[in-house]
Amino acid sequence: MIRRFIQRVLGNSAKPQAGRPPAGGPLILPRAKHGIKRENIDSCALRTCETLADNGFKAFVVGGAVRDLLLGKKPKDFDVATDATPEEVRRLFRRSRIIGRRFRIVHVMCGRDTIEVTTFRAAGNLSGDEEDERPTDESGRILEDNIFGSQAEDAARRDFTVNALYYDPLREEIHDYFNGVADCKKKILRMIGDPATRYREDPVRMLRAARFAAKLEFHIDPATRKPVAELAQLLDNVPRARIFDEAVKLLMSGHALRGVHQLRAEGLHHGMLPLLDTILDDEQGRRFIEAGLKNTDERIHADKPASPGFLFACLLWPQVQRRWQDIQTEGEKSIPALFLAMDEVLEAQRELLAIPRKLDGMIKEIWALQPRFEQRAGSRPFRLLEHPRFRAGYDFLLIRAESGDAAQELGDWWTEFQDADENTRKSMLVADTGPKPRRKRRRKPKAAPAEEIPSA
Ligand code: ATP
Ligand code: MG
Repeated sequence: MIRRFIQRVLGNSAKPQAGRPPAGGPLILPRAKHGIKRENIDSCALRTCETLADNGFKAFVVGGAVRDLLLGKKPKDFDVATDATPEEVRRLFRRSRIIGRRFRIVHVMCGRDTIEVTTFRAAGNLSGDEEDERPTDESGRILEDNIFGSQAEDAARRDFTVNALYYDPLREEIHDYFNGVADCKKKILRMIGDPATRYREDPVRMLRAARFAAKLEFHIDPATRKPVAELAQLLDNVPRARIFDEAVKLLMSGHALRGVHQLRAEGLHHGMLPLLDTILDDEQGRRFIEAGLKNTDERIHADKPASPGFLFACLLWPQVQRRWQDIQTEGEKSIPALFLAMDEVLEAQRELLAIPRKLDGMIKEIWALQPRFEQRAGSRPFRLLEHPRFRAGYDFLLIRAESGDAAQELGDWWTEFQDADENTRKSMLVADTGPKPRRKRRRKPKAAPAEEIPSA
């Protein structure tokens, strides 16, 4: 309370640490200058802003939505920024709840839509010369960011100039503190304030730079890019779960292929997807992963479902294959060797990337189905069609075929088989080419039929 009062009093004279808003306040652009139409704003975000404004608070659509609308792209989500505290917001909306600890925000729900409402944050450095009040770790990483401030301070602690644009839907104006509109037009990604300091505060901003550059097809401003090579290792201090979330955002952005190459170009993959190093240097692994990422990008652009489980199954497959081969060379049989390799690879990744265990089931099923696609005799292909993961396994097989990791003929066969009528299917059956199924030990010459390869 007291802190908030001090901030209110000092609010306007405060000098934000991250970067200083232009002395004359923000550039205010009317509709004719920015071209964003109110009709393109999500109705839940509009209603949230209206309710806040009716109750005497400031309220803006902010962040990625304004940037994407300026660029003529469809925003992924709409965030609202306000001078109301989380408690004040919470009281105004019946269907809302406060979430987060490191960064407290309010989720406002309308129908199935959720809008994130954030209270303007200060940089935490009220005098500008004193130490930042926000708790940090020994490398300068901010652990908590809940000190509220003015709109200008809020703009200054955002990451990139194009992410610090505020759209007032009632007046249809954009408030632009750091020439973000001009950078949008020039397609430049520029960090607000001193880039090295901002990366130290939150090393994830380096990953965000690579993600936005790939997604928006922006050029990273040289001063923003420069410190990255040196500071990339700070990613080691970031909790693995946060890195995993950022990896998913990059991989599910619809620009995963470009994003992964951008990461590598910036030397950031060690901190995010360390497995890329070994794989992308290997011609076959690279071809497979590129085909997998391209496929996911296309699915996302076509509004088809895409899942992180499938993506990680793609990213880790070249490693699984390598270990599968090695374990067989050591004398293990094909299928047990595959299951051993799967467990080893997932376990090794857990330390580096914290892939949540809930994805393990799907990832393993997709992998374990692969040898079963080679069995095209008897009743096995019919049973495989009934497998709940058939579709994901088949999509995966097609990526393998496209990249030369499986025979194209095998992929084509399954494409035809699944849509064929019963008689055609029977006529299509061919002798097994895959690993031989395990047989039960026979005591008597009259043995039971061959046992099925275990399904995943
Ligand atoms: P996307 O299209 O991926 O949602 P976005 O710009 O909306 O992009 P979010 O992660 O949704 O990104 O964050 C919303 C806004 O919050 C950003 O535009 C930026 O202003 C601010 N922000 C988010 N993360 C950070 C960060 N690590 N440091 C500083 N500002 C951040
Ligand atoms: Mg967003």
